[in-house]
Amino acid sequence: MGNPKAFLTIHRQEAGYRPVHERIDDFSEVEQTLNSSDRRTQASRCMDCGVPFCHWACPLGNKQPEWQDLLYKGKWREAFHVLEQTCDFPEFTGRICPALCEKSCVLKLSCDEPVTIRENEAAIVEAAFREGYIRPVQPVRNDKRVAVIGSGPAGLAAANQLNRRGYEVTVFEKYELPGGLLRFGIPNFKLGKNIIDRRIRLMEQEGIVFKVNTMVGSEVSAKEIASTFDAVCVAIGSEVPRDLPIEGRNLKGVHFALELLSQQNRILEGIAIPPKDIINCKGKKVLVIGGGDTGSDCVGTANRHGAASVTQIEIMPQPPVGHNPATPWPLYPQVLKTSSSHEEGCIRRWNLASVRFIGDKNTLKGVEVEEVEWLPAKEGSRPEMRKTGRTEVIEADLVFLAMGFIHPEQEGLVKELSLAVDTRGNIAVDPATNQIAGTNIFASGDAVSGASLVVRAMASGRKAAAAIDQYLRDK
Ligand SMILES: Cc1cc2nc3c(=O)[nH]c(=O)nc-3n(C[C@H](O)[C@H](O)[C@H](O)COP(=O)(O)OP(=O)(O)OC[C@H]3O[C@@H](n4cnc5c(N)ncnc54)[C@H](O)[C@@H]3O)c2cc1C
Ligand code: SF4
Repeated sequence: MGNPKAFLTIHRQEAGYRPVHERIDDFSEVEQTLNSSDRRTQASRCMDCGVPFCHWACPLGNKQPEWQDLLYKGKWREAFHVLEQTCDFPEFTGRICPALCEKSCVLKLSCDEPVTIRENEAAIVEAAFREGYIRPVQPVRNDKRVAVIGSGPAGLAAANQLNRRGYEVTVFEKYELPGGLLRFGIPNFKLGKNIIDRRIRLMEQEGIVFKVNTMVGSEVSAKEIASTFDAVCVAIGSEVPRDLPIEGRNLKGVHFALELLSQQNRILEGIAIPPKDIINCKGKKVLVIGGGDTGSDCVGTANRHGAASVTQIEIMPQPPVGHNPATPWPLYPQVLKTSSSHEEGCIRRWNLASVRFIGDKNTLKGVEVEEVEWLPAKEGSRPEMRKTGRTEVIEADLVFLAMGFIHPEQEGLVKELSLAVDTRGNIAVDPATNQIAGTNIFASGDAVSGASLVVRAMASGRKAAAAIDQYLRDK
């Protein structure tokens, strides 16, 4: 803790977003960066608490106080070496992590101005790339081979960890390019895809083989992979979206959120989309059903297309603004979140259930919604929803369903390997090792936990890699 009084005298300073009028016409990253001097000043605010709650809150167990202190002292290289011990890809988490650590920072509790931990993390890793501290390493090989199925953050973290331990790693990915939802889910305005390309290039230089356009469980046999590799890590994500099976669901104009988001990312990659399949929101009234982050990403995308209007509705009540007594510090606060996409223009409404899609000649015209009320949860139960009978029609030419994901695809690989699933449909593993009992197969990420966060997927991939290493050593 280089400057013991900084937290008393220096305020939190975020780099902020590019101005709306400048960013709304492009898909480049919206977040800006501070200069190195301001960044070090921000790092000086860390109090190096006796109990670092930031460290407790981070699923990767990042050692934030250590690297804040090194950053404050201008020891960028040393700060990076501490950061890389626990985090494989700080360039991803530094951009798109919801910063669970900052919500648990003691300065969040005392003055609502936590240390800018996430932005500092991004600055450290970007300096490391810029200054050339990140170079391909060539591990000593141990003649064992591991297959990773799925190249999202869980699969990438597992592959990176195993490669560094000397295993020959092959990553199988069904899509055209590696990255999972980082690549074909999260919009470019949150995470530029050059950032993923840079990391994949490095991983390839370090010896990891990526086999894209390879769907395991149909094009390639999963059983064959399990028998020819010493171990397998299944990291196939949680891809089945929650549907809204109400009247009119089949009307032209009703889409899952990822149909829009993944298509947009493909277009930006230069991947050709058949003209008949292109979803464009220009001049359209857009309704997003689902008030979460995926919905917010649809809002930002629709506005960049030039939508006539964008409305986002949510069945649950509006969360409290600022502070929620139900989730006291150091817990992650369940409060109203206003994203960069919301700032760009969007009507947000809560307590609305969707009753039916209304169409004319098979084309969507609107959605009938009904206002609902929520009765407070009784001890041990969930809040109870009550319909009010008050209905209205929201006009819409396009609807995007952003109501979450339910579980991994149950056909294909899961069926071929006869993998057991839990009551929610996620792959069932030994919670201590992520191993599937009695096999050389391990699983990680959203496929095990259900849809979650990049930082949790990376932590899960690291855990599976450590368990695979132990398993193969014991063998
Ligand atoms: C629109 C959207 C925005 C999000 N934004 C954020 C955010 O800002 N911050 C955040 O922390 N989290 C965010 N998330 C959540 C985050 O992206 C996921 O939790 C995370 O990507 C899960 O990682 P994963 O590796 O488990 O799975 P995924 O990223 O889903 O990767 C799984 C990979 O496996 C591949 N695959 C599946 N089946 C097969 C098969 N049979 N053979 C070969 N390959 C296969 C898939 O093609 C995919 O590439 C967002 C999610 C969505 C949908
Ligand atoms: S990964 Fe997320 S929770 Fe962990 S230190 Fe970085 S921003 Fe904080």
